[in-house]
Amino acid sequence: MTVETEIPADHPRKVSLLIRDTIIAGHTDHVVATAGLLAHGRGEAFDYLIGEQTTQLAEKAIKAAVASLLLARHPVISVNGNTCSLVPNDLVALSEITRAPLEINLFYYREDREDAIIRVLRTAGAKAVLGTRDRPSATIPELSSNRRKVDSEGIWAADVVVVPLEDGDRTEALKSEGKFVVAIDLNPMSRTAIYADITIVDNVVRALPLMVKYALKLKKKPKRELQEIVRSFNNDQNLGQSIRFITSRLEELSRDISVLRQKKPAGVRES
Ligand code: ATP
Repeated sequence: MTVETEIPADHPRKVSLLIRDTIIAGHTDHVVATAGLLAHGRGEAFDYLIGEQTTQLAEKAIKAAVASLLLARHPVISVNGNTCSLVPNDLVALSEITRAPLEINLFYYREDREDAIIRVLRTAGAKAVLGTRDRPSATIPELSSNRRKVDSEGIWAADVVVVPLEDGDRTEALKSEGKFVVAIDLNPMSRTAIYADITIVDNVVRALPLMVKYALKLKKKPKRELQEIVRSFNNDQNLGQSIRFITSRLEELSRDISVLRQKKPAGVRES
């Protein structure tokens, strides 16, 4: 989504502010729910704690997540307003490479929000979008929210479901339906993070493009290699290490806060 902005090119927090502008524009266009703005704020706070970068731990989780998608019988990528507004092109690219359909699933459902999300996804190149009101649906019994309604040929039939920016209830419900859940959540302590099978502790704006890159790379690998990547990934361990990453970063900063003054603009990836 293109956003008109007056943020100066050399502003030290340009990337973060641009992302914020994108979410606000998504809200104006009815793609993002008002509660989505608050969820974004919580994400920003955790992003600050990890230094607004993709950690090696997140990259390891991304690799395992992509391998699980490529191995899946019927993978599905769940889409909500925030992800649609932030990374529509990457969602479509990942969906095509991994043959995982996109399915709209909204906590704050409104017909105009569904329509706005379809428009954005179609503009980004999506050929099919599941979970819309004209589609056959099924119900996840463990859930009482709007999100209980899923597409009969999508999440209902899926073995692997990617849930970027999820609420914990739904992750638990998907787990109790026997799904393998891949989450993207900047908060390593959220219920989503702890119930998912693979949690990518990273911002969707960095994680999704990297997932696309890994999908192109891993698609060429033998099944055996992909199985080994998934088998050797331990989510609890990765989350624990992600929390330790934050605590040791804060420890270091507490000893010398001046390093933050020399910091590159947020979002610049160290290579
Ligand atoms: P849970 O129910 O899983 O404990 P929660 O109550 O925090 O989590 P929500 O407020 O519905 O759930 O979801 C927002 C979550 O999404 C937060 O954990 C937040 O850190 C995360 N989040 C927000 N924006 C982003 C983003 N751009 N990239 C990754 N994660 C994000």
